[in-house]
Amino acid sequence: MDITVYGGAGVVGGNKIHVDLGDRGLFFDFGEPFDVSKDYYTEYSKPRSGRGLWDYVRMGMLPALDCYRPDLFPSDLPPSEMRPVRVDALFLSHAHFDHYGQIGFLRQDIPIVASPMTYALLRTSSEMGRAGAPTELFDHVVRERKEEEPRVLFSPRTKEKQMRGRRWVLTGDVIDDDPQWKKGSLCDVSQGEGEIDGIEYRSFPVDHSVYGATAFAVRRGEGDWLVYSGDLRMHGVNGECTSRFADSARELAPKALIIEGTRIGRPIDGREMTEAMVRENCRAAVEAGKGLTIADFSANNFERLDTFIDIANTTGKRMVVTHKDVALLESIAKVDGNVRKDLLWVYRSLSPDDVSTVNDLQEKGWQVADPQDVAREPDEHMLCFSFFDMTKLLDIGPKGGTYVYSNSMAYDLKQMDNLQKLMNWIELFGFNCRGLALVDGKLDFERGFHSSGHLSLDHLWQVVERISPEVVIPVHCPDPERFRELCPLRTVVPVKGQAIDMDLY
Ligand SMILES: [Zn+2]
Repeated sequence: MDITVYGGAGVVGGNKIHVDLGDRGLFFDFGEPFDVSKDYYTEYSKPRSGRGLWDYVRMGMLPALDCYRPDLFPSDLPPSEMRPVRVDALFLSHAHFDHYGQIGFLRQDIPIVASPMTYALLRTSSEMGRAGAPTELFDHVVRERKEEEPRVLFSPRTKEKQMRGRRWVLTGDVIDDDPQWKKGSLCDVSQGEGEIDGIEYRSFPVDHSVYGATAFAVRRGEGDWLVYSGDLRMHGVNGECTSRFADSARELAPKALIIEGTRIGRPIDGREMTEAMVRENCRAAVEAGKGLTIADFSANNFERLDTFIDIANTTGKRMVVTHKDVALLESIAKVDGNVRKDLLWVYRSLSPDDVSTVNDLQEKGWQVADPQDVAREPDEHMLCFSFFDMTKLLDIGPKGGTYVYSNSMAYDLKQMDNLQKLMNWIELFGFNCRGLALVDGKLDFERGFHSSGHLSLDHLWQVVERISPEVVIPVHCPDPERFRELCPLRTVVPVKGQAIDMDLY
């Protein structure tokens, strides 16, 4: 059994882990490598879509392997340049971009194994966003070479265009078995557990900052098990799942455990923040606040959304979300059965596309909050807004209020710039801000309003010891050497693109 880490070796994010099981092969995750994209690209300067795989392979954002869609090869990138690799399945751990962001490049006949919740989140967000080849996770138009310049690819718009769909295998049941939703246009979605195309596997729900996160175990023939954690933590509402995963994985007596070490080398300040502590701090801030309340948290962190629904309930406020949130909520309700419709109001956003979408939702029975309703009774409302919604506040014109920033720190210049501008909006409307402040022009994150999506170091070693593999391989980790020093079990530090032969351990 060979394990090759093509992405996620010594960096946080971009997990692409290939496993050669002898007669079968697979990838765990196939994410966008943030380390390269943040050094060379911006929102407006991206790898060129018309060159297919070219920019990604040349920039080292994709390994040169022969597992990609044939339609993405421009004429000057010969497929013979690609090293042979066997890929029978992709195991996707969760719906974060650094784990799924480049799956669209993979050959369309490679099935994707994921939890129903991961499918629900990605399916709906891909319908809302404009997809390029890297994120074509469901179906796509086959690209063609330009006749006069075959180094350039394009999507035909005429009736000659060909569509291709992917195969998804979900690790559990969905509650609302809507065939339209499950099938998509060309997608083949089925449920299965235990075996896919000759690979024996197990899946385990784990706790992370997005619902649906899953760890996997795969087996070489009748022999060794290999466990992959994905991203996980123990201090969220579903912390118990992570404990159960550790116990179940231990029963497999795995040869190796590939596990995240995101927080190795990151500063640890004081006591670990749990979701329960975040909930109490946010509740206290909302209770103490006057005027309009704004709750700012990551759009796909539905655990945090549920936290704020609870806070709105206990403080007697109307919780107002955007129609994009509703699209995701309707999708995940098909999996968790939690419709949340009676607890939420949809914000009537005054932009041409949004007006009809919100009207449609109103017809389907959703309660709608008009900017005038919010302006009239600001104390009665809690808006789930973030920086990108600030322009909407011009229709409300709030005078003071409470802004609760319950989101992560800024990790790059773009995020820092957005947050600086957010603080200007906050000042413009006279909000009292909790969770974030500007001190001498610098961003200052107030502790207690956000908790990490990743295992604390104590919990990390608990999970490792409980699973008790023969070998530990750290990924998604900024300092794997430090991981090795601290880890109580034998650790092999992966080097990007170099195979680790498990038979030597
Ligand atoms: Zn994640």
